Amino acid sequence: MHYNKIRKMDISDGPGVRVSIFMQGCTFNCQNCFNPETHPFNEGKEFNDEVINKVLELCDNDYIVGLSILGGEPLHPINIEGSTKLAAAFKEKFPNKNIWVWSGFLFDKDLKDKEILKYIDVLVDGKYVDKLHNPTLKWRGSENQRVIDVQKSLKKGKLVLYCD
Ligand code: SF4
Repeated sequence: MHYNKIRKMDISDGPGVRVSIFMQGCTFNCQNCFNPETHPFNEGKEFNDEVINKVLELCDNDYIVGLSILGGEPLHPINIEGSTKLAAAFKEKFPNKNIWVWSGFLFDKDLKDKEILKYIDVLVDGKYVDKLHNPTLKWRGSENQRVIDVQKSLKKGKLVLYCD
């Protein structure tokens, strides 16, 4: 598994100042994808325990409110194990900081049995659909995508949005 890049201080992918990691590899091929360089699975850099430790170290600052995991497709079968390991390690070390994940897969269709949901606070799900692009939307690019409060959704057994 590979990743594309890490941002040490990201103020655009989720609320507050965050660390973000972009995983490498995606097969969805959304028209006008914002990040086409993340599509090939064999490019980028190797994702391993050293990278997890580096991310945790970067998050260990009071001004960092959370971790964002994007791509590429962080929940593709090739990437989900590494993304889960990172999310689990982050939540163990920082139970009061949040994790936001962006995925083209759907929460209630593709992801419902995935272990990583235990660790995610907010999931922005669904592929980017260019004809539904709306620049006024917060945290998402197209109107079909949903900003989901994962922990509330799991507790209630139904999808609860974090925001419209
Ligand atoms: S899911 Fe994301 S990374 Fe993959 S093609 Fe669509 S917009 Fe690009």
